[in-house]
Amino acid sequence: MNILVINTGSSSLKYQLIDMANESVLAKGVCDRIGLEHSFLKHSKTGGETTVIEKDLYNHRLAIQEVISALTDEKIGVIKSMSEISAVGHRIVHGGEKFKESAIIDENVMKAINDCVELAPLHNPSNIVGIEACKQIMPDVPMVAVFDTAFHQTMPRHAYVYALPYEIYEKYKLRKYGFHGTSHKYVAHRAAQMLGKPIESLKLITCHVGNGASICAVDGGKSIDTSMGFTPLQGLCMGTRSGNVDPAVITYLMEKEKMDISDINNFLNKKSGVLGISGVSSDFRDVQEAAENGDDRSQLSLDIFCYGVKKYIGKYIAVLNGVDAVVFTAGIGENNDYIRREVLKDMDFFGIKVDWDKNEVKGKETDISAPDARVKTLVIPTNEELEIARETVRLIK
Ligand code: AMP
Repeated sequence: MNILVINTGSSSLKYQLIDMANESVLAKGVCDRIGLEHSFLKHSKTGGETTVIEKDLYNHRLAIQEVISALTDEKIGVIKSMSEISAVGHRIVHGGEKFKESAIIDENVMKAINDCVELAPLHNPSNIVGIEACKQIMPDVPMVAVFDTAFHQTMPRHAYVYALPYEIYEKYKLRKYGFHGTSHKYVAHRAAQMLGKPIESLKLITCHVGNGASICAVDGGKSIDTSMGFTPLQGLCMGTRSGNVDPAVITYLMEKEKMDISDINNFLNKKSGVLGISGVSSDFRDVQEAAENGDDRSQLSLDIFCYGVKKYIGKYIAVLNGVDAVVFTAGIGENNDYIRREVLKDMDFFGIKVDWDKNEVKGKETDISAPDARVKTLVIPTNEELEIARETVRLIK
């Protein structure tokens, strides 16, 4: 059974075709600059070449059409016809309180996803366009929506309600939702497999640390708290996002710097974080290089970032009343041994002890704990597309 996984952005569309018989990726690619000049499709066949096709992709429907043409092409394709696609799994950013898990897409689900646009005005509209485009090209193929927020819908009320007048929560559904749920869920289940224990018996802290970063407390396979909030801005300092600041900073800055709503949003989401502190880059590799060459602000940005991750781990150990394993994933979590070391050092009080040689691993599932560690530390590359494909199969069955 082949599942097509689609992740639609405002001007891009990423895809993977996964053969679920052995969970292998047959082909993957991206349509970029959709609706803009110089749009193109970059398509890679597993074990084959990567092809770039320059084509006018005026809209997402034309992009999907092009993806299907590439997948069924004699030379660069991997299937003979569209009929070999059993279902499509769509990544949807926000499912609000309505979606506690993935859902087969029908009229009611479309309406409910539409209702969540207010909560994710930058993301859900593109996701909807992606679904509509697929429906036009593949009207008879079942489609499933997999939400970034759904995994966190198990959080208890005291973890997700903000200390604002309660009517505000009731009126706007303004609360903590959390994101990266598909990734937290995937690595939590992989961790249970690596530890050889049922997930129901485990307390885990999963650290999705990339340009966007969030930490999750997972108790018995369920998210009970996470660091991102109403939007992905809350929590850790990230590549370009500020993470937690005193809310009074916002009004102070708006007044002093004469910023309007769009200025302050841009400032906190795009100009802050590691980029804002270092003034060098949002990419940790560049910042690390600058720090190694003596740049004080670059070093400070890394110190602030690591201090933030460490604090959340401590916080979630308290919330979980212990922890069996801490898991690192995403670009930095999987590849950056310096950040892992700075976060994990001096945590032996909690039973966290790392084998620093093993910690040098990049992008490979590895137990990096020291032999005498009470708490395991695991590096697990995330695979959100596979998790979406699995959810799709589970639902259509
Ligand atoms: P993500 O948002 O998950 O794609 O992560 C992006 C971040 O991961 C960047 O800041 C990079 O510094 C880091 N990263 C990605 N790949 C590598 C790698 N091979 N080695 C070190 N850092 C990496």
